[in-house]
Amino acid sequence: MTSSDAPSTTVLDAEAAYAVRPHPSPLPEADRQAALAEPRFGTVFTDHMARATWTAGAGWHDRRVEPYGPLQLDPAAAVLHYGQEIFEGLKAYPHEDGSVWTFRPWANADRFAASARRIALPELPREDFLAALTALVRTDSAWVPRGEEMSLYLRPFMFASERFLGVRPSLEAEFLVIASPVGPYFAGGVRPVSIWVAQDFHRAGAGGTGAAKFGGNYAGSLLPQGVAHAKGFDQVCFLDAATNSTLEELGGMNVFVVHADGRVSTPELTGTILEGVTRSSILRLLSDAGHEVAERRIPLAEITAGIADGSVAEVFACGTAAVITPIGRLAGADFDLTVGDGTSGAVTTRIRAQLTDIQYGRAADPHGWMHRLA
Ligand SMILES: *Cc1c(COP(=O)(O)O)cnc(C)c1O
Repeated sequence: MTSSDAPSTTVLDAEAAYAVRPHPSPLPEADRQAALAEPRFGTVFTDHMARATWTAGAGWHDRRVEPYGPLQLDPAAAVLHYGQEIFEGLKAYPHEDGSVWTFRPWANADRFAASARRIALPELPREDFLAALTALVRTDSAWVPRGEEMSLYLRPFMFASERFLGVRPSLEAEFLVIASPVGPYFAGGVRPVSIWVAQDFHRAGAGGTGAAKFGGNYAGSLLPQGVAHAKGFDQVCFLDAATNSTLEELGGMNVFVVHADGRVSTPELTGTILEGVTRSSILRLLSDAGHEVAERRIPLAEITAGIADGSVAEVFACGTAAVITPIGRLAGADFDLTVGDGTSGAVTTRIRAQLTDIQYGRAADPHGWMHRLA
């Protein structure tokens, strides 16, 4: 993923490609305003969804924006049996002047295609991905919440829809984008999270699906996440499956370590980690700011010793939903450590502000990361 990832091809004319079939009875204005006043992540959805259908014979066709609503699925649809499903997550950000923008959507489009390849689903062209987002956000622009750290969360996904119980790649697939207004991830200010390091579960193995944004990876993380919750922790961090000794990532966020001397490290991409768009953006912003940044294998033992002796100053997690989440406490079977003074460290706080200032149009966008949707 490079930083100048603008499309080399022209974006399809969104209106033309994704014809709008308007909702006959959209949510009344007053109800929408009420839903937007205090949005809870992933609970309320806009009036429409973007959609396209793929068949092995005809390729992608029947692109449209249609009323949001339940899908009709055959009970033998492949996804219900063998789990062929991938997704993406990105946000539409309101800017002061009323325009609506998204952040590095080409990176999400390319990752969506890479995930599709790994799960043997058809690739969706990046310009098609962009056109679907644009058409949906333009149709439902009244649903973009306006306010501090508010956004419209966009969830593209694709699944195997063929009615067939044989085990082979589906010859039919559905691509959809749904949208949900979201408020600040941390209502009332950024709150550091506590992390349980799982030593008896792994999220991904060599040659597996860990680098794909594949629904099944999440299914596999729910039990370890539940174990961490039961112990009183917010989230779980996974170690590599081969040696059970180096940091990988959380169930849905990448991790960074800030050393007391200003160096910053994050686990290298070995094929078992999901390459976050937030991760790669932070690597760029930190190196722009003069930090020495390393993508490397990070032994858990190095980090626990470093937190204990003060040479590790900050640890944070990152992803689109929460942007950057400070980690205040890190614990596992035989250790329980407070990171720094347990609050958000200086580098964590600064990089979070820098990134959100670019996303909300409050700061210059030196790398051309922003893309206007409406
Ligand atoms: C989506 C995801 C991330 C974060 O990716 P972003 O592009 O930064 O949102 C990290 N890890 C996993 C497992 C993910 O699914």
